[in-house]
Amino acid sequence: MKFAVIGAGFYGLHIATRLKALGLEVKVFEKADDILTFASGNNQFRLHLGFHYARNFRTRQQSRDGYFRFLERYGKLTEVIPENYYMVPQGDSLVDFPTYKLIMMSSGLDFVEKELPPEITHPCGSVLTAERVLMIDRARQHFHQHLPDTIHLGEVASVTMADGHVEVNGETFDYCIDCTWGHLIPDDKFFFESTILLYYRKKNQAAPSRAYTFVDGPLCSLYPTENADIFTLSSVPHTPIGQHSTSAEALHTIASLSSHDINLKRLLMEKQLMRYYPTFLDDYEYVDPQLCVKTKPFGHDDDRSCYVKKYGRLIKCLSGKVDNIFYAAAEVMALIEGADE
Ligand SMILES: Cc1cc2nc3c(=O)[nH]c(=O)nc-3n(C[C@H](O)[C@H](O)[C@H](O)COP(=O)(O)OP(=O)(O)OC[C@H]3O[C@@H](n4cnc5c(N)ncnc54)[C@H](O)[C@@H]3O)c2cc1C
Repeated sequence: MKFAVIGAGFYGLHIATRLKALGLEVKVFEKADDILTFASGNNQFRLHLGFHYARNFRTRQQSRDGYFRFLERYGKLTEVIPENYYMVPQGDSLVDFPTYKLIMMSSGLDFVEKELPPEITHPCGSVLTAERVLMIDRARQHFHQHLPDTIHLGEVASVTMADGHVEVNGETFDYCIDCTWGHLIPDDKFFFESTILLYYRKKNQAAPSRAYTFVDGPLCSLYPTENADIFTLSSVPHTPIGQHSTSAEALHTIASLSSHDINLKRLLMEKQLMRYYPTFLDDYEYVDPQLCVKTKPFGHDDDRSCYVKKYGRLIKCLSGKVDNIFYAAAEVMALIEGADE
């Protein structure tokens, strides 16, 4: 059997790896000039365990399972974060600290309750977690090495369903797996959200290198990256720029964002973090924005779980987090195995 996989983000690359391991013929199409350059290379690089999702059981379960499977198969593409704090700020969080701990414990998530680090001044309940950071450069090297002669740089302009096969750019395949996170073939149950994260460099070398995540609700986080001195600042209310019904509109929005717009976002995001970490700007300096697009399901505020859908010979994967790649691959295999045509 011959497979076309469209999109060389974590989903396309992992699914292609699994299909090749079965001895199947696979061709990955990627429109950018390298792999892992869109959402998979522009996010907060958090290998989630579930602590971010106090209000969504399905997402928490998929994260916990995906985290351990990711460590088993791709552990070298992650790094430990020695002090990874999740904090529940009094008065600001949608859940109180005892409820938060109960939700995590009942989902089988282990943590260590810990006093607040000294730079955090707002009263918060706080736990240390084992969440890790994703190493994107290492991931690029890994997939280039493990998928030789499989990745083809070039845009897919047409996918045509035919009797018993599918045509991608005029070439015949048995199945096509759309791993473009909804950009190629739109889905009326999902919308696009243009986003901004901010990169900061640690300027005070004596300052601690911690990960800080404030939950639950319209809060913010500062998280390490693969570069030891660089961190991302993300904010639930301020990271979204706009909601769009088409990919083209979302991409146009991030491409045309002015430095004035970016500076306004920056002021809001810094102010939000400094409510909890007042000396943040003594320890870190602003570097650059990171602009990207999220694909989100309508109507489920906190749902980042994975959806896999089949339309004849076309299978589509949509997921709000990297750790769901195993769930997606299993669903793809099950849909092919159970196919009745
Ligand atoms: C701001 C932000 C923060 C996030 N933070 C996290 C986080 O901390 N942890 C986490 O796990 N997840 C996070 N996510 C979500 C995560 O980035 C996505 O769930 C994941 O990257 C989706 O992977 P993918 O392979 O489906 O999509 P992508 O990585 O976007 O890959 C799709 C690929 O398809 C290609 N493509 C599109 N159209 C075509 C075409 N016509 N022809 C050929 N190729 C095409 C694109 O160029 C792209 O390379 C975040 C996302 C955003 C935007």
